[in-house]
Amino acid sequence: MARKNGKDGKGSKAEKARETKSQAAPGADHPPSSARWARAADAGAGTAPSLSPHLHPVLPPAAPGIVTVAPDQRFSLASVDPNATGGLDKAEAKAALEAQRERIKALQEKLYAERRRSLLVVFQAIDTGGKDGTIRNVLEGVNPQGCRVWSFKVPSAEELDQDFLWRYHARAPGRGLIGVFNRSHYEDVLVVRVKGLVPEETWRERYGLINDFERLLTLSGTVILKFFLHISKDEQKERLEARLADPTKHWKFDPADLVERESWNAYQTAFDDALCRCSTPYAPWHVVPANRKWARNLMVARTIADTLEAMDPHFPEPRAGLEGIKVPD
Ligand code: AMP
Ligand code: MG
Repeated sequence: MARKNGKDGKGSKAEKARETKSQAAPGADHPPSSARWARAADAGAGTAPSLSPHLHPVLPPAAPGIVTVAPDQRFSLASVDPNATGGLDKAEAKAALEAQRERIKALQEKLYAERRRSLLVVFQAIDTGGKDGTIRNVLEGVNPQGCRVWSFKVPSAEELDQDFLWRYHARAPGRGLIGVFNRSHYEDVLVVRVKGLVPEETWRERYGLINDFERLLTLSGTVILKFFLHISKDEQKERLEARLADPTKHWKFDPADLVERESWNAYQTAFDDALCRCSTPYAPWHVVPANRKWARNLMVARTIADTLEAMDPHFPEPRAGLEGIKVPD
């Protein structure tokens, strides 16, 4: 992966060294604030001391089967088997999913009542990767009032007139809410990079800006969970064929997906870069093996439930002075 524009002016030698496999290089590109985070994590500070401890929990590990990308380490999706199931069996997984949904539902009620923190769940995947299905299956039964799902499409003219984070920041979940991003600010280093929609120096700058944006949200009381749904190229073929074969699925078939499929390898490279450059101690990337939908759903649901549990939301204290109050007839 050649880097044409050495923005930091360090010259081609440093650039080459940075790109070699043996170097844990991605952090070197981050702007100062993000690099400081990475150093705090290296020093064993976990989610790092300057995160408001009363707002931000120590993040629990993701569910078995998920691969969490270590901050500042080289990472390749090719190292993750998309067929992995986390040791689960299909029949067990379906029953277990219901139990995880119940946990999410009960914890969401408290998060909403408490109105102090929020949870942002980000989904990224290649076309047909299962973002819609995961959201539908995992969040079924959640009180819609406490949940906002945003699907990000090609930006409008108005959005393109603003900085690239503007439309995402405006939709970040407020206190008490669970926000779900179906595609997200990562499109601006994925499709935008693959299709060359902005110059290279522009998208290269964005990894650090994304890390800073996510740090801002985190420091403001938002816990961020980022799931990358990982499917194989063969699986995508099967899913596209299934959409073509079934008239009730025709609406899901987008001929543009075939054009994007031709750029499969370029997307994998863009994914690898985004996953390693933007996996931070405070907002790590979770790669979900997603060929098996039933395993994928359970892994995501369990991770969301565990994270909400770690946030430990509480109903507000009962109010004093209400004992004597009589409601008039
Ligand atoms: P879908 O999610 O299949 O409905 O398609 C949405 C389309 O919008 C996808 O092709 C995305 O790549 C595209 N898209 C989303 N965000 C951006 C962005 N920031 N810039 C360009 N295209 C985008
Ligand atoms: Mg599509």
